[in-house]
Amino acid sequence: MISQRQSDPGQDENDADRLRRTTIPQVMSMELVSAFAGDREMTQRERTLICEHERNRGSAFYSEIFFAISHHYFAPEIAETLWNNVLTHKHIISERLGRNVRITVATLDYLSNITSELKAPTLISEAYISEIVNLSMRDRMTGLYNHSTCYELLELEFRSHRRYGTGVSLLLLDIDDFKLVNDRNGHQEGDRILIELANTLIEQIRDSDICCRFGGEEFVVILPLSDDPVVACEIAERIRTKVTGISCGRQRITVSVGVAVCDHATTSPHTLIEKADQALYKAKKSGKNRVVLGVVSSL
Ligand code: GH3
Ligand code: MG
Ligand code: MG
Repeated sequence: MISQRQSDPGQDENDADRLRRTTIPQVMSMELVSAFAGDREMTQRERTLICEHERNRGSAFYSEIFFAISHHYFAPEIAETLWNNVLTHKHIISERLGRNVRITVATLDYLSNITSELKAPTLISEAYISEIVNLSMRDRMTGLYNHSTCYELLELEFRSHRRYGTGVSLLLLDIDDFKLVNDRNGHQEGDRILIELANTLIEQIRDSDICCRFGGEEFVVILPLSDDPVVACEIAERIRTKVTGISCGRQRITVSVGVAVCDHATTSPHTLIEKADQALYKAKKSGKNRVVLGVVSSL
């Protein structure tokens, strides 16, 4: 992936070709540009070359300097002023950093950060970017989507529901007495249970459903295109039953589940989560290891 310059690349191509045709490449080498800008002492021969070139090329001379440094074409009318600005910039940042900043660095810094003519043209592989984005969306331990991604994905489903009336339901799961699991078996065993539970969730849902680790031992399953409370509760019940197959030492693992379905009273993703949370609270209060459906408002 290449972060693009702001200007039209097609236009640059033509300008660049035009410039190549009219430039005397051996004269405007980077070496010469660098010496001209004061990166080092110029030799007498270089001084002569520069003078000749400046005389012959007029203000196009400055366009060529910029092209040599940035591979970006600037029209002669603006290039000379720009060159003076860059030299001033080079002077300022050299003073600030206490060393002679080279003209390439000063020019690219000026064009990127001061005039925003260029965006840092860095080559980054597409696969690398996808990997980073994917990592940032996931919980490290379980590989499920993390808390903030949960909200983002829920927001998307919610918008789609509001627009097309397609429905969206949500399950909020909380492991029962998980503190005890940690206390009796150690934190590492607790972590193993979290991973096993995450894998169980993934096994039990459809590809289009979305599994997230919402918090420590709380999980969310988003069911897109689901507006039927009965179906949502069936899925929750299936997960709950499957989880009882997980154990830690002599302790059987169970979960309580709050189920919420979008209805006309559900005005935001937050309202949907709140509804599931209230149902979860009831499930805990009424003995744990159970599924409770949040109140569905009638029209
Ligand atoms: P309840 O049935 O009411 O939900 O009780 P509980 O013990 O599960 O609930 P509580 O909120 O009191 O405790 C949750 C525990 O989950 C406390 C915390 O140490 C543990 N926990 C949270 N995140 C992790 C984690 O990443 N790994 C492990 N091993 N434990 C965690
Ligand atoms: Mg909890
Ligand atoms: Mg718990």
